[in-house]
Amino acid sequence: MDYSANSDRYNKMVYRRCGKSGLKLPAISLGMWRNFGDVSSLTNGREMILGAFDLGITHFDLANNYGPCAGSAEETFGKVLSEELRSYRDELVISTKAGYYLRPGPYGDWGSRKYILSSLEHSLKSMNLDYVDIFYHHRPDPDTPMEETAEALAQVVRQGKALYVGISNYSPEQTARMIDILNGMGVHLLIHQLSHSMLGRQNEPVYDVLDQKGVGSIVFSPLAQGILSNRYLHGIPEEPRSKSRQGLCSESCITPEMMIKIEALHDLAQERGQGLSQMALAWVLQRATSVIIGASRLSQIRENCQSTENLAFSKEENDKIDAILNG
Ligand code: NDP
Repeated sequence: MDYSANSDRYNKMVYRRCGKSGLKLPAISLGMWRNFGDVSSLTNGREMILGAFDLGITHFDLANNYGPCAGSAEETFGKVLSEELRSYRDELVISTKAGYYLRPGPYGDWGSRKYILSSLEHSLKSMNLDYVDIFYHHRPDPDTPMEETAEALAQVVRQGKALYVGISNYSPEQTARMIDILNGMGVHLLIHQLSHSMLGRQNEPVYDVLDQKGVGSIVFSPLAQGILSNRYLHGIPEEPRSKSRQGLCSESCITPEMMIKIEALHDLAQERGQGLSQMALAWVLQRATSVIIGASRLSQIRENCQSTENLAFSKEENDKIDAILNG
């Protein structure tokens, strides 16, 4: 199909160095956990991927189990890549992961060398790629020696099947240990993918380790799966959530106390000349190299990209946000 990328795409997005590495990431990255699988519309998925690239989003985040059905998001991305984006491959940072349940039996979960290496082979085939840019271990494995998982990550870099490696959902102590083990193997950990938002701050101590060790950070669920947007300002909308997100951020977590906070944050965002989702992303970007947004339509991606127009927060604004969140 004919696709020609917007020639203005690099003029609006902000690109930031990922820790002490040579790689720059867009401040806004696009994640494919939901809404890109085979239960979702391929036409809409294609429109979001190409529309995101036109907005300067160069980084697309996948995992072996994204869909639903598990694995189908990689197939969707592979299809769009082959049909429209192939000539732009060198302008894309594509990531995938292994670490969560993929298949039955003892070799389709956690962090063994056996699972990790076979999963990456499978992901490369699904996306029709020779290499991914970033390959993650998706979650720590309490039973496999960390050295074994690290050796598998180091191997994929040596083989050229991944240019960089990352980890996700590791505690500060586990992160420090993995960085040191990999360093001992001559491989620099590029990035940690962690959850962080105004409504979920429990992982903030991870940033201290990353800063100390020169490792970048990328945040998932920065909008608390959509709660930090205009979506719930006037109550629970009648329009149902996109099919593949139903039951995820359950609307039962939108309590009256939560609504008071959301409304106060929305007012502050308006004072900054932003929508709530834009302020929520800018707030996370004070600490993180990049944020990974999810989306069900291109208009959400457009709206979220505009967060880069005001990334600065005064001390008063940050204090106000803390007071609202702790109130
Ligand atoms: P978000 O917190 O960004 O939530 C995304 C959802 O919020 C969208 O699907 C949409 O909901 C809603 N939304 C987004 N923008 C707007 C807007 N402007 N106005 C109103 N609603 C909006 O992130 P996710 O939790 O989806 O995670 C993002 C990505 O992070 C994933 O795709 C994945 O790549 C990664 N991830 C990694 C994990 C890990 O363990 N490493 C775990 C989870 C995610 P709706 O679809 O209902 O319209």
